[in-house]
Amino acid sequence: MTLPLLPVLPILQLIPGAEDDSAVTVPTEIVLLLLVLGLIIVMWDLFDRRSKSARKETGLDEKTEVLSVRGGSTLPGKEYYSEELALVSKPDALIKEEGMVIPVDVKPMTDKVRDRHVVAMLLHLKLMEEITGERPPYGILLMGQKRRQVKIKNTEEKQRWLDSLIDEMRSICDGVPAVPAPSVYKCKHCDVRAICTHKAEDK
Ligand code: SF4
Repeated sequence: MTLPLLPVLPILQLIPGAEDDSAVTVPTEIVLLLLVLGLIIVMWDLFDRRSKSARKETGLDEKTEVLSVRGGSTLPGKEYYSEELALVSKPDALIKEEGMVIPVDVKPMTDKVRDRHVVAMLLHLKLMEEITGERPPYGILLMGQKRRQVKIKNTEEKQRWLDSLIDEMRSICDGVPAVPAPSVYKCKHCDVRAICTHKAEDK
């Protein structure tokens, strides 16, 4: 507890006779007040370091206010779960922009936005609105090593698309046969193409 006592020293020198050991009498209230101030400074510094460290983990810039980081060592991650919808989502991070909580997903391995990235983001947005009652206007994808920012707008049309995918997924769970939609390019590079009965091939 050395640091909280540091602000006490200059003030002691201002007190008449403080240099003389035998004459130093500081009221207990002042000492306690200075200790509390020191503690606040230490806590503030700790919080600031945690925020900076969390930003570093996501690749977000200095000005971004980070609220949570999934699996982060500094700020705890956040999970959104709706029992009613039987859906769960875990954004990679949550940030605050213009008073709104915004979900962020980090995709360091690719610079290209795929449907699966958008669907996961729309699910975060859907559950955040369902649980908090506030509709985030967009989510952010950080793509590739350079963390290129892509905003995914939370529109009615996109949410309808998500709903249709969820309905399809539920009907498959209920026994409706899944219809594969393979792509020639993906199948060409797939590890199990030799044994897959659904693979697409060049005609
Ligand atoms: S080969 Fe089969 S498993 Fe692999 S991508 Fe194509 S359809 Fe999917």
